[in-house]
Amino acid sequence: MARIHVKITDSRKDWTHKLTSRLVSENQVLAAKSLQVKNRVKNPCLAKAVSDVGWSEITRQLEYKANGYGRTFVQIDKFYPSSKRCSTCGHILESLTLDVRSWTCPECGAEHCRDANAAKNILSAGLAILAGADALRLHEKVPRGTRNHKPAELE
Ligand SMILES: [Zn+2]
Repeated sequence: MARIHVKITDSRKDWTHKLTSRLVSENQVLAAKSLQVKNRVKNPCLAKAVSDVGWSEITRQLEYKANGYGRTFVQIDKFYPSSKRCSTCGHILESLTLDVRSWTCPECGAEHCRDANAAKNILSAGLAILAGADALRLHEKVPRGTRNHKPAELE
């Protein structure tokens, strides 16, 4: 049993490293949301997925690999409403339960896959933070993101 467990841990580590290396090599800018992993793991629907992937480890690897390869890694505040916000028009839903995987914006009618929509929002918020768009941040009620790495050309 112990040997099988070591094997699973090793292949997961290997998979995580391959994923983060690929993401860093293929992208100049990487944006991620800081997740409250502890809270997420309390939710039975997400518990397995989040713990299996080791989200904080992925984030850690993205950060140091991005720094090592001269890429930009920006983290968005965990309270930014990336899932509830329509990436097309900016409308923010009152609520969006975790079981809803796709939704239609009541404002502009855009159809969203939950994860793809959230990813678009996180990327635009990350780019806005890198551009120093404080006004945009206020307008979109985006709390201050943390800037882990600032590219030389923006300093
Ligand atoms: Zn919309």
